[in-house]
Amino acid sequence: MRLGLRLRLTLFLAALLLLAAGLLSLLVERGIQDNQQARMEQELAQQTRMANLRIRQAYYSGSGGDPQEFLRRSGRQLAQELYAYGGLPLTLYDMGGTVAGSSLQDGTGAAPPAGSPASELLGYALDNKVAFTESDGTLIYLAPLEGPDGQLGAVQLQYSLRGSEQFRQEIRRLFLVIGGGVLAAAFALGYLYFSRIASAVVRLKGAADRIRRQDFIAASPVRRRDELGELGEGIAFMSRELESGIGAMERERRNLQLAVDKLQALERQQKQFIGSISHEFKTPLTSIKAYVELVGMYKDDPELLGEAHRSIGKETDRLYDMVEKALQLSSLERYEFESRAERLDARELLEDVAGRMRGKAEKFGLRLELELRDAQAWCDRESLMHMLVNLIDNAIKYNRPGGFVRLGSRAEDGWAVLDVEDGGIGIPEELLERVFEPFYTVSRDRSRETGGTGLGLPLVRELAAKEGGSVEAGRRAGGGMRFTLRLPLADGRSGE
Ligand code: ADP
Repeated sequence: MRLGLRLRLTLFLAALLLLAAGLLSLLVERGIQDNQQARMEQELAQQTRMANLRIRQAYYSGSGGDPQEFLRRSGRQLAQELYAYGGLPLTLYDMGGTVAGSSLQDGTGAAPPAGSPASELLGYALDNKVAFTESDGTLIYLAPLEGPDGQLGAVQLQYSLRGSEQFRQEIRRLFLVIGGGVLAAAFALGYLYFSRIASAVVRLKGAADRIRRQDFIAASPVRRRDELGELGEGIAFMSRELESGIGAMERERRNLQLAVDKLQALERQQKQFIGSISHEFKTPLTSIKAYVELVGMYKDDPELLGEAHRSIGKETDRLYDMVEKALQLSSLERYEFESRAERLDARELLEDVAGRMRGKAEKFGLRLELELRDAQAWCDRESLMHMLVNLIDNAIKYNRPGGFVRLGSRAEDGWAVLDVEDGGIGIPEELLERVFEPFYTVSRDRSRETGGTGLGLPLVRELAAKEGGSVEAGRRAGGGMRFTLRLPLADGRSGE
């Protein structure tokens, strides 16, 4: 059986009390007994002395004669007298061991039967020695009597031990009653007192169990100003430390997992990228190689030479563009891009880009329109130029004859927003996200025709992300596309 802490402590206290009370009562009883014995011995000695004195006095004040004769004659009267005076029943014996007088009966009793303990004691007393024995609650004490010429006989005194025994019994009873009461009270008080300690210990154990289940505690489960209170504070402190340690570890683990996921995704992307790159690079190279071979074979064909010159030039331009964008894209993904962000006036910047691109637009028979409102972007100038040139280039490439390209700027919802719209061929709804994947083109033929690489939009998205912004593709209601570039506003930031 498992005993609770409070019961155990209480029982221990009770056992301790019981032991103390038992020892105390034993000592007290022993003390009382010693005291009673000393008093008894004193009284018996005194009575003996008195008997001796009185007998000698009676002998000398009488007619004298044979002391034994005198004793037998006056024994009874002397015995009665001594009993009346001293209060202890007594018997006088002559040297023959015969009762000379007694306060007990008529005074002429017979001597104790030979061989009995009484007769043995009498033998001692008649041999001038003191002897005593206890029988039936009475102490029988025998001492020699001195006569005028040597020993006269013996005196036997009877001392009742009942009074002393009763007294001791009473004391024992008192001890039992008071001890029992004190024990019960101590048990009750101890139980109450230890209950408080035990419940504090139980609460501390509960707190430890909670911490083991990772259910952490913020404050101490006990409020006491002793070691248990300090232990509670210590447990609460450890719980808080554990919680924050585990929290930090968990955050660390999550961050690590995120980094691992990101790295794995990057690796996958790069593998895919390298696969696509080798494929995409081969196409223009194959075409260039074929033309070089043809020119080698038909050196004198001016038409072929012109065709080869045009095609090789176009493919070389495309290859150059592809190499440049691929390198830029992979370095953006791989290295921390150092953005030299500055305050840029979107209106000014778009006017500048429009000026540069107008010639190309007009060459394709397109109108370049501006719808500019104030917006100050926080961005790297070169990056923004790259993004805009790519988007405008696409708006021109994938347009219709007589179409338009519209550039817009505004500040909206905490962003500097730059739009590049066109009324061109558009992108099907389901491909709006795919066009941001490297080397993805909606129409391969059209892309090839226009020298497209499928790397422009991924580059724009990557650059926008590095600047803390985003780019989205949306279809215009009236046909064509709207690419929306969102960049952080320069509000409150220094223009340096
Ligand atoms: P590309 O060099 O082929 O233009 P991009 O990454 O810039 O590569 O664009 C990916 C594809 O998205 C293009 O091949 C084209 O099919 C489509 N696209 C991009 N911009 C437009 C646009 N303004 N209108 C219609 N289609 C577009």
